[in-house]
Amino acid sequence: MAGTKFAYVRNFELPDPLLPDVFLVCRLDGHSFHRFSDEHGFVKPNDERALQLMDHAAKSLMSEYNDIVLGFGESDEFSFLLQKRTNLYNRRHAKILTTLTSYFTSCYVFNWPRYFPDTPLRYPPSFDGRIVVYPTEQAVRDYFAWRQADTHINNLYNTVFWALVQQGMQSTTEAHANLRGTVSAMKHEILYSRFNVNYNDLSARFRKGSVVVREEISPPSEPKAQNSSAEKPSRVKKKVKIRTHVEILHCDIIGDEFWGARPNILS
Ligand code: ATP
Ligand code: ATP
Ligand code: MG
Ligand code: MG
Ligand code: MG
Ligand code: MG
Repeated sequence: MAGTKFAYVRNFELPDPLLPDVFLVCRLDGHSFHRFSDEHGFVKPNDERALQLMDHAAKSLMSEYNDIVLGFGESDEFSFLLQKRTNLYNRRHAKILTTLTSYFTSCYVFNWPRYFPDTPLRYPPSFDGRIVVYPTEQAVRDYFAWRQADTHINNLYNTVFWALVQQGMQSTTEAHANLRGTVSAMKHEILYSRFNVNYNDLSARFRKGSVVVREEISPPSEPKAQNSSAEKPSRVKKKVKIRTHVEILHCDIIGDEFWGARPNILS
């Protein structure tokens, strides 16, 4: 096919490499999920099935792409951290972004019936995506802290808002108006005094979001050889392959504990 008189058009395709040696964060977000969640009857403020479906798609993506070392999700969004030294698709920006976004979206649609068996898809959902490069470990930690803080702020607001609407019989306009200017402590107070809800008792999935990590599987202990004296000690040191599996947690990622226990994420 090369060598035709048309082939010159290929030269209009410009390389789009991402900077070497920097962390890559890819964030996907559901397109118009305000509408999508309405049309598919998501429970407000938090539809557990929808969150589990997002987690499932994230897990599938991380199982497919080993260079993703961390995922964090809330609502209709997920962020994925790629190893600093990843050479995935030679760090081509569009190739990475489009394949990750497309694979995640397919997994979301593919697994939809498992989480919404009684709700057929009314139209195909889609996700937008972006990749941001972060040069330092601190910036990566601050990025994930920013997303988890956002989860908290949104969830607190949405929890009070929907309590006022669903149980307090307020219109959405009234509920928004009532919450305007309230600080966090006041929202906790409204929840507790009016609805007898202790915010901290809500599911950690709602309060903390979903953290997707690769956890090491401890290797099965090697069976002892019967007559080990007969064996020559092997001079070739076996390379120990660390096996991992992708796991979902709902834990704090703002403090040091999470990162201290997983130094590999930022290495
Ligand atoms: P955009 O295309 O700009 O992202 P959007 O309508 O998707 O627009 P977002 O800011 O991404 O806006 O907000 C997503 C909305 O989807 C939330 O406000 C919420 O209404 C809804 N939503 C997403 N996930 C859930 C869920 N698990 N349970 C209930 N509602 C959800
Ligand atoms: P990449 O991920 O780099 O695109 P690829 O395997 O998709 O790798 P392409 O150059 O895009 O490589 O080629 C797509 C291949 O898919 C074709 O070579 C062909 O083998 C197969 N293919 C695609 N569509 C059809 C089709 N309709 N019928 C038969 N084979 C097809
Ligand atoms: Mg948005
Ligand atoms: Mg969205
Ligand atoms: Mg969103
Ligand atoms: Mg192809």
